[in-house]
Amino acid sequence: MLDTLRKIVQQVNAAEGLPEALEIIVKRVRDAMGTEVCSVYMRDPDTGRFIFQATEGLNSEQVGVASLAPGEGLVGLVAEREEPVNLENAESHPSFQFLPDLGEERFHSFLGVPIIHQREVLGVLIVQQAEQRRFDESEEAFLVTMSAQLAGVIAHARVTGAVGVGILAGEGATAKVVGVPGAPGIAIGTAVVVSPTADLYSVPRRQAENRRRELRAFKEALDCVRADIRAVADNLGSELNPEDHALFDVYIGILDDSSIGAEVASLIKAGEWAQGALSQVMIEHIRHFERMEHSYLKERAVDVKDLGTRVLTYLQESTVANRTYPMNTILVAEELTASSLGEVPRHKLAGLISVRGSGNSHVAILARAMGVPTVMGAVDLPYARLQDRELIIDGYNGTVHLNPPSELKQRFQHVLDQDLALTRDLEALRDEPCETLDGHRIPLWVNTGLMADVTRSLEQGAEGVGLYRTEVPFLLRDRFPTEEEQRQIYRDQLEAFAPRPVTMRTLDIGGDKSLPYFPIEEDNPFLGWRGIRVTLDHPEIFLAQIRAMLKANEGLGNLRIMLPMICNTAELDEALELIRRSHREILQEGLSGELPPIGVMVEVPAAVFQARALARRVDFLSVGSNDLTQYLLAVDRNNARVADLYHALHPAVIQALANVAAAARAEGKSIGICGELAGDPEGAVLLLAMGYDVLSMNSTSLPRVKKALRNISMAEAEELLTEVMALEDVVAVHQRLHRFLTEHGLEQFIHNPVV
Ligand code: PEP
Ligand code: MG
Repeated sequence: MLDTLRKIVQQVNAAEGLPEALEIIVKRVRDAMGTEVCSVYMRDPDTGRFIFQATEGLNSEQVGVASLAPGEGLVGLVAEREEPVNLENAESHPSFQFLPDLGEERFHSFLGVPIIHQREVLGVLIVQQAEQRRFDESEEAFLVTMSAQLAGVIAHARVTGAVGVGILAGEGATAKVVGVPGAPGIAIGTAVVVSPTADLYSVPRRQAENRRRELRAFKEALDCVRADIRAVADNLGSELNPEDHALFDVYIGILDDSSIGAEVASLIKAGEWAQGALSQVMIEHIRHFERMEHSYLKERAVDVKDLGTRVLTYLQESTVANRTYPMNTILVAEELTASSLGEVPRHKLAGLISVRGSGNSHVAILARAMGVPTVMGAVDLPYARLQDRELIIDGYNGTVHLNPPSELKQRFQHVLDQDLALTRDLEALRDEPCETLDGHRIPLWVNTGLMADVTRSLEQGAEGVGLYRTEVPFLLRDRFPTEEEQRQIYRDQLEAFAPRPVTMRTLDIGGDKSLPYFPIEEDNPFLGWRGIRVTLDHPEIFLAQIRAMLKANEGLGNLRIMLPMICNTAELDEALELIRRSHREILQEGLSGELPPIGVMVEVPAAVFQARALARRVDFLSVGSNDLTQYLLAVDRNNARVADLYHALHPAVIQALANVAAAARAEGKSIGICGELAGDPEGAVLLLAMGYDVLSMNSTSLPRVKKALRNISMAEAEELLTEVMALEDVVAVHQRLHRFLTEHGLEQFIHNPVV
């Protein structure tokens, strides 16, 4: 049973669009259940009617013609009740509705199940039989399971099919794909699709700009792979017998002009770019081998895949070197990485779209720091087909518009212009302090990682750095940086901001931040080996980093050190001991300098409950609200499917934030926050009232928060906090905060400016 289910889902997954997917479903489900009829009705999102969309066993000429109004017939009943309807004799049911010309008169038994995706009824899946009988429990369970598994695939096919077909046919079909907000702002531009290194299955389709050049690149890549394989064979030399050697010749032969190589070349000549042609031909051959029954031949699929990947690697190397980016590039990828952001010249980069990840992924945080509008988790985007297409990104609402009509473009252009005007307005605040109407001052600091952040931050009037993510320079290398390399990087940061304070966080890897040269593979990475756990297990990495920081601080004295992911006092004591040891060591080496202030990030629930014990041991606490929210609410910050449950202003989070502030105050220690919440004007008002001493945020948010706090008084903020703390529901919290901003003329900082 499981095997049948899996095979059907696989086949449906491989379908080109919705009609093909539905045809496969009705055919395969009818076969699997041994019924006489299987049909699907799909709900038309505009009219709400259920359209007879595919059938095996009824009159197929009625496909796309016959339909039922919402609530009409047994189909309407299944959809309305959102549960199966299993009948021995369908016609005798009061809801039965006779549809002429379908040819269902002779079928008496009826089993219909709803197709539900993310709480929305997409359609109804039905099986019918002539014999009068109730379908048994196992049949019903099978159809329910089938429908639940297929719902996601159908939803995806519905969007990609509709979008993809129109686009490919050049019809300029318009479509809106919904993801989640990554970084605020609007971008109108041209898609450039980047594929992950050497993955045959995610190569975008694209027209060759110059067929001859593509053909040449392909031939050169083939030559390189042939040479590589020969070199491997030669290296193994005497270890192989002549028969084994012959295998290598067969391997090379696969690439020869007479077989796969020739097919790829002819696709290129027909206009496809080399990578696309290679991937299409290779996937076809891999499928062919995989379908074979004989296990030896089946195994050849692995060889073909390996060869294809090798050729693709060479092709990608030459393409990356030659890639040009249009003005207003919108970078599109299945999974955006920090390094792919760095490939596009900043003045050409207008926006980012990642099919995977969510607004709390680290790449989204970087995008916010860079001020690049971003949509994450756009799972239904047919991204591989979007090269050179015109797109609009709405980073406020997390939507992507493909082939937008001119009226829509104008609307977005208007918002874009307003945003620019607001940015210009805010520039005037650069040298003004962040002070409330009743004279309460709160310093606004920035979060940095890249050197580029430094200039931007200083331009925005940052008074210090509340979080320097040291893992960013580690992520952009192919090995651990040496102590001296680190010293230089840290020195640049410290010097750029001196005498303003710079809070350097010790290496925070693991979770979704894996170093290419130090991979950490775990089933539950966010609950695994990350942050301080890694560095305490590798004191050599930790000590080198601390020494580099202390040396970089010599003569400047604006360093602060901060420890991520502390879960208990033992970890903190151990880390403090290592820091003191490093300090003693550098003094012995003849360098000077005080031990800098040391702080702890409060980003796991355990640290909230032990905030006083932690605060007692250090100079400051800083809340990492991004992780704290994910751990308090048990919502993966990277998972688009649960992104709508990630509420930075959930009443439980608000309670935790207030408790930590109170704990730090009780111990007479400074309390800051460096999660994204600090950069949200609504969050900032509450944090001010809770008594946070410093708010650290991405530099793009800084002027907005400053403007918001300069327009309110501390007394009003405290009153608001008292009211909000009494609310039990996150929607009510947002409604109250929206009202507050509106009453203070700050409605432009409420999300969703474009709907
Ligand atoms: C946080 O968790 O809030 C934080 C600031 O750290 P990061 O986002 O780098 O995990
Ligand atoms: Mg964190």
